[in-house]
Amino acid sequence: MLDTAATGDPIAASPLEDALTQLRGATRALGYDDGAYELLATPRREVTVGIPLRRDDGTIEVLRGYRVQHNFSRGPAKGGLRFSPGVRLDEVRALAMWMTWKCALMDLPYGGAKGGVNVDPATHSLAELERVTRRYTSEILPVIGPERDIPAPDIGTDERTMAWMMDTYSVNHGYTVSGVVTGKPVSLGGSLGRATATSRGVAHVALAALEHRGVHRDGATSAVHGYGKVGRSAARFLIEAGIVVVAVADQHGAVYEPAGLDLDALDRHVDTTGSVVGFALGAPLEPELLLELDVDLLVPAAVEGVIHVGNAHRIRARIVVEGANGPTTTDADRVLANAGVYVVPDILANAGGVIVSYFEWVQANQTYRWSLDTVEARLRERMLAAWHFVMETAECRRVSLREAAMTIAVERVFDAHRSRGLYP
Ligand code: GLU
Repeated sequence: MLDTAATGDPIAASPLEDALTQLRGATRALGYDDGAYELLATPRREVTVGIPLRRDDGTIEVLRGYRVQHNFSRGPAKGGLRFSPGVRLDEVRALAMWMTWKCALMDLPYGGAKGGVNVDPATHSLAELERVTRRYTSEILPVIGPERDIPAPDIGTDERTMAWMMDTYSVNHGYTVSGVVTGKPVSLGGSLGRATATSRGVAHVALAALEHRGVHRDGATSAVHGYGKVGRSAARFLIEAGIVVVAVADQHGAVYEPAGLDLDALDRHVDTTGSVVGFALGAPLEPELLLELDVDLLVPAAVEGVIHVGNAHRIRARIVVEGANGPTTTDADRVLANAGVYVVPDILANAGGVIVSYFEWVQANQTYRWSLDTVEARLRERMLAAWHFVMETAECRRVSLREAAMTIAVERVFDAHRSRGLYP
């Protein structure tokens, strides 16, 4: 299933500026000099490729693809591949940097990377998407691999994309290399529990945050912005935990039912029509207005920059748990902090995906499969350990959860730099 993430707002600042501002804050808090900042701000490698695509009608379209490897200090680079018509190099740079911090915060033995291709999955056939994926993989072949850089799904890509990538890489090497990507189909060595891992992690952290803020989960209200890979299962896990999901949005529209949405009926509607729009058991709502609902918990689970200076002062949620990468701009973050909104940052909240990616890579390297129970128990343990560490650090240093998470992550990465030293 391709992602149906909601679109961002034009008022959004650049994700790269936001990522660099966050890094600047962390390096200042840690007392690092400008050289250290520059070292951490600069990607180790950036690859830009042209992807000539033969369309089904015989015409040729040339797409652009990127792979940015931000950091390798703690291990091979790791991060998703995004298919999205508007994807830009700067955006991929920001997303790669966030992967470095996310992996370090979760204490995974990885650096960070991200890929993007400016293709619209909605207007390309499966055969065209397969050709794009295989050509993109061939172009970046020299810089990826289980010990170099391990792609995974992101917006617009899925387990089928990962199967094509693994196959292209393997055919070129002459043998099956299962650990070159994660998020593969289970039949090809994908991990049980990977498909819903990001959403599970979001739910674990959301429940912990609600409890910490004294909000009883039974009957607590929630709105989920983005009804794709992350938002859809997150909404379901929240409901299973006793939370009332009053609204969800995708890129086409939103639906609202104050008594709580019937997700079984909604999912049947989405599977038939491709969108939440037109769902009879809820009122239509503008997706932007969903962000401003008076709820206990808001989960932005779509794209970057949806909470920006233009709407931050209208956010009425008590707690925001960032299922997406970079959904809150730096300026909006300040507005939310002043208003007392408790924001659980992306590098903590949505790390469940890359945690189970790590489990998948470990299983591939061991050629030994773990049970679903083992995967889910270890995911929960890692998410909650990270939550407690970040929350306690934030309280002890009197900073936001984002500042605490960033400081922990940046320090771990820079410690690795320091121990390894500079070559030559
Ligand atoms: N695309 C996901 C993320 O942003 C997963 C990355 C991965 O598993 O490598 O965290």
